Amino acid sequence: MIRTLRARIALLAGGLMMVAFVVLGLYLFFSLRFQLLRSLDDNLRLSAEQLLPTIEREDNRFVFAQGDFSGQSLRQQEDVIRLLSPDGQIWAQQGSIAIPSSLSMLQSEQEQYATWLIPDIAPQAENAQGNHQQNAGESVRVFTLPVRVQGQTVAFLQVARSLESIDEALQTLLILLLIGAPFIVGAAVGGGYWLAGRTLKPIDVIRQKAAEISAHDLSQRLKLDLPDDEVGRLAQTFDDMLARLEDAFQRQRRFVSDASHELRTPLAIIRGEVEVALEQPRSAEAYVNILESVHSEVERLNRLTNDLLLLARSDNAQLFVRRQRIDLSELITTLIATLETRLHEAKMTVQLDLPPALWIDGDFDRLLQLFLNLIDNAILYAPGSRLAIGASVVEGAPVVVVADDGPGIPQEHLPHIFERFYRVDAARSNQPGNGLGLAIALEIARAHGGRLTVESEPNEGATFTLWLPGEPQAGSIPQSK
Ligand code: ADP
Repeated sequence: MIRTLRARIALLAGGLMMVAFVVLGLYLFFSLRFQLLRSLDDNLRLSAEQLLPTIEREDNRFVFAQGDFSGQSLRQQEDVIRLLSPDGQIWAQQGSIAIPSSLSMLQSEQEQYATWLIPDIAPQAENAQGNHQQNAGESVRVFTLPVRVQGQTVAFLQVARSLESIDEALQTLLILLLIGAPFIVGAAVGGGYWLAGRTLKPIDVIRQKAAEISAHDLSQRLKLDLPDDEVGRLAQTFDDMLARLEDAFQRQRRFVSDASHELRTPLAIIRGEVEVALEQPRSAEAYVNILESVHSEVERLNRLTNDLLLLARSDNAQLFVRRQRIDLSELITTLIATLETRLHEAKMTVQLDLPPALWIDGDFDRLLQLFLNLIDNAILYAPGSRLAIGASVVEGAPVVVVADDGPGIPQEHLPHIFERFYRVDAARSNQPGNGLGLAIALEIARAHGGRLTVESEPNEGATFTLWLPGEPQAGSIPQSK
């Protein structure tokens, strides 16, 4: 088994070259053979046509006229010329090669070419001059021309020539091809090996560098200065992937450290309160105060763990969204009614601009949490402001806007506002929020196939927009609920 791609490519190049060479060789061989045979056939026909006028009748048979018989030159070419009776009997023959007669050939009474192999013993070549065995095993090309008198075939004129010279030429070609083959194939293997080495070298560099990059230091990059080809783009993609991995790892680490930090604060408070309680006997009222404080911290811990659990599920694509036909207008109105006391305490005015009904497929509890987080933030960060909630359908998709006219979110914080544990004012971290509210709202929007965006101008408030997919029918009667 060949283990390097380089060697495999080289062998493949060699193999392909071999196949191409064989195909080309076969083409050359057969086209040369065809051409040579054709010109031989033309020669034979010419000779036969020249001989035709020299045939004359003698008694009951035909012979070559003695006087102007021009077979001299033909004999020198070692051609065989002969005259046969219509039933295949040899009347006259010139030439040294002993060729057999073929009756079947004569029967068609057509002029034709044929290639004959001279057998070891030519049975009908007794009349031949010279030793017939001498040419045994050789091939001859025979042209047969019927001699016609008044439309009647009276004899056959045959001109035959050995194929030896053609065979020799073809043999020489074969030898040349066979000698050339190893050189050509060798050059292909060598060239393929060299080229593959050149092409694969950067890939090997990528492999080595990638092996050096450990999970603990994802800040490393290949940073190879390669041309913008397949390999160059591979290296770039690898670097991009490293950047994404690094980013994800960093976020994960930050998340874990933020989460532990968030858990530590309530735990430290609980611990302090319990230690105070155990220091010395206290009044019942003091114990109640301590227990209330512990209870509030436990509540905070409970909220935090629930939030973390929801985010973890969302990361594992396990955020369960129970889809049912729900009326968003009703959901928001109910939520506002529930929060009435808190809104009143925060001196907020509420303006609702909702259609009578806005049916969507969604998870009631999750969407309730999303809007609760948004309104909670408005109460927390924009007290005394005017809260406007409007819903509409834009190009078939429901859009809900939650806006306040409070202090707004500074521009530089906007890109991070949906990050986990991100707070604009870290100093206010003793507030009930844990920095996960918007991150959770975003995950819920995503789980519904939607988006959550924010816009804010300093001192002009913050506007959160929930974009949901689908085609709701505003005000229509629900199919199921
Ligand atoms: P928290 O749980 O701390 O409220 P969030 O993820 O809900 O965390 O919000 C992140 C930060 O965004 C908050 O700390 C706050 O500073 C800012 N923020 C959110 N909503 C508003 C708003 N309506 N007005 C001003 N700032 C806001």
